[in-house]
Amino acid sequence: MTLHDSALVLFSGGQDSTVCLAWALERFARVETIGFDYGQRHAVELQVRPRIRSGLASISEQWRARLGDDHVIRLDALASLSETALTRDVEITIAESGLPTTFVPGRNLVFFTFAGALAYRRGIKHIVAGMCETDFSGYPDCRDDTIKAVQLALTLGMDRRFVIHTPLMWVDKAGTFTLAEQTGGKPLIDLLLGETHTCYLGDRVHRHAWGFGCGTCPACRLRAEGFAKWKAAS
Ligand code: ZN
Repeated sequence: MTLHDSALVLFSGGQDSTVCLAWALERFARVETIGFDYGQRHAVELQVRPRIRSGLASISEQWRARLGDDHVIRLDALASLSETALTRDVEITIAESGLPTTFVPGRNLVFFTFAGALAYRRGIKHIVAGMCETDFSGYPDCRDDTIKAVQLALTLGMDRRFVIHTPLMWVDKAGTFTLAEQTGGKPLIDLLLGETHTCYLGDRVHRHAWGFGCGTCPACRLRAEGFAKWKAAS
């Protein structure tokens, strides 16, 4: 990895992918972003993305110079295939499978395939994503082994070397705040709390110390607990 390389960041507008975008802006000469519109209930994510990108650009001159194009890909087919609480008005609970009803089967596999295709076309080798196996909801497509398999599949399937970076894989939610503080200081923490969106219900009404959200869905609970743990330690 050299500073001459470009990276493509899977950027949803959530807290984790925003930290990953800042992480990439510290390391790569040019950083492009990709987001997916798949009829998610928390489509507010898509609205906060441009604000977060300009917020990051205003934190650092270097980041502003490195931040490249944004690409939003429509994946309507994903919503038509999945009967889940992320795309339908279904209660968010833990299903018999042990996974939350927010699980969209294969979602990240689809995301990576499209990200790989775009990276191929743009001549980008490095793909950065916020998957995390610590403090997570148990989604199998967030696991490290899955990501490693996807890297191999993309590399073989497109006959082009891809490297997938997951800086948060072994970091818990408190550690994510620590990484954000180390990467972008207070301005990045303020951007995370004020603009990023994680709540599955798309709640932008209730503002807590840890940011906006309903406060009760699995994503809000993880974020609130991580914030409290980080605050207590700092
Ligand atoms: Zn929520």
